[in-house]
Amino acid sequence: MRTGIGYDIHPLVAGRPLVLGGVTIPFEKGLDGWSDADVLTHAVMDALLGAAALGDIGRHFPPGEEDLRNISSLVLLQGVRDLLKGKSYKVSNIDVTVIAERPRLADHIYAMRANLAAALGVDIDLVSVKASTNNGIGELAAGEGIAAMAVAGIEAAS
Ligand SMILES: [Zn+2]
Repeated sequence: MRTGIGYDIHPLVAGRPLVLGGVTIPFEKGLDGWSDADVLTHAVMDALLGAAALGDIGRHFPPGEEDLRNISSLVLLQGVRDLLKGKSYKVSNIDVTVIAERPRLADHIYAMRANLAAALGVDIDLVSVKASTNNGIGELAAGEGIAAMAVAGIEAAS
């Protein structure tokens, strides 16, 4: 059993869709970034890559590559799944917390878990998604961005 940690943060800006865990959530702002800026999925990817000591998301999917512009991060997550498979690892479990003052995410949690599980080809029971706020403190509470942190466990595929 190996574990990895992932953290990511993106700024909230006008004129972009808000995509978290592959779910497009109605909101007046969205996350800025080269891909769809799905901060939650990016944290999961970094946790999985970290568990396998395979570097980080920027190494495998560098921003600035034209074919990655606005790409769904679920597609990138499938790429991480393939990297893990290539090293004969399988996902044991994932736990991710997204930190957003607004919008309220509770109604979207199940769909996020389903998206992540489908991209990784694992049972939804192995994927935990939690939503938190920054309790009024600092830039995240002021709505300047959304952050996510994740841990992932992987094991040798039998
Ligand atoms: Zn990111």
